Amino acid sequence: MIPRKAVAEHTPIWKKEFASSLHLAELVKSAKSKDTLVLNNNVTELNAIDSAFPIRINSALIQRLDHSDEDTRERVLRQYLPHVDELKLSPNELQDPVGDVVASKTQGLIHKYQHRVLLITSDTCPIHCRYCFRRDYPYPQTNSQQIEARWGEALDYIRADQSLNEVILSGGDPLSLDDEKLAQLIHALEAIDHIKTLRLHTKYPSIMPSRITPELIQTLSSSRFDVVIVLHINHAAELSKELSTAVSNVRTAGIHCLNQSVLLQGVNDDIDCLEQLSRKLFTAGILPYYLHLLDRAKGTAHFEVSQQRADELMQAMKQRLPGYLVPKLAREIAGADSKQY
Ligand code: SF4
Repeated sequence: MIPRKAVAEHTPIWKKEFASSLHLAELVKSAKSKDTLVLNNNVTELNAIDSAFPIRINSALIQRLDHSDEDTRERVLRQYLPHVDELKLSPNELQDPVGDVVASKTQGLIHKYQHRVLLITSDTCPIHCRYCFRRDYPYPQTNSQQIEARWGEALDYIRADQSLNEVILSGGDPLSLDDEKLAQLIHALEAIDHIKTLRLHTKYPSIMPSRITPELIQTLSSSRFDVVIVLHINHAAELSKELSTAVSNVRTAGIHCLNQSVLLQGVNDDIDCLEQLSRKLFTAGILPYYLHLLDRAKGTAHFEVSQQRADELMQAMKQRLPGYLVPKLAREIAGADSKQY
């Protein structure tokens, strides 16, 4: 984890932004002062929610939303602000809703589908999405030596399986690693001839666009891989000018940019929201890829949108948007040999 401490002057901007994230203490203060940020929670509930899945919100995101209307602000923040409904657990909610643990071949290396594996590269995210499907994932230890030992085992597995051609760096968020550490991993993967494509799943560009550093772009563009960055944006208001600039730099370097969203009750379960999201993604140079149905992690039922409602929204999107702007509606089923869409 990146420690919460004062950061030095030479620290990259994104790390300073990370260090200024809001956690439980700031929200408790906010609740006590009857700030509108945590209208629905008292201090006891906030503590219980935080114990189950720690609160982390980016203060710059909250400030950016000051310019939005109330409905937009509520929809975006609903993803990240704790809600008392997280304390209601239902029997069909699971600790490992998508079967990551069963599909792990080495610690943090998940092999579910043909030709590709996913490496849990980091245990840290720039923000904590309250609907997170990995909120209870048993993240491996991440001090430097342990990371290298873990990567060693994962690399051995990848090297030995010649049917693989793609590695997905996920997490947590792979961009929580320093540029140097990420470059070290990418170089090690490059030495495995049968790996042709490198994919990164990341939340950073929408939360802290400053994470897309020139050094990161240089590492990705100079690798021999076809590189795909899959962003995670659920609402059009999460796209900023800074994000568009970062994506433009990434695309100029020959890297593909896609987006995966989750369909969330009270966030984007509305045809105008979904249409606007697809259109703004396209303007920013990002193609909509997946619209996921909620993975039933513990304490997330208040985000669920029914299959019927999801189908209606997809139908409406097909009517309003050209095909290339309609994401695939996907559900992940633990143990299945592909996503269902
Ligand atoms: S970015 Fe992904 S892994 Fe991280 S908290 Fe959000 S949903 Fe979970």
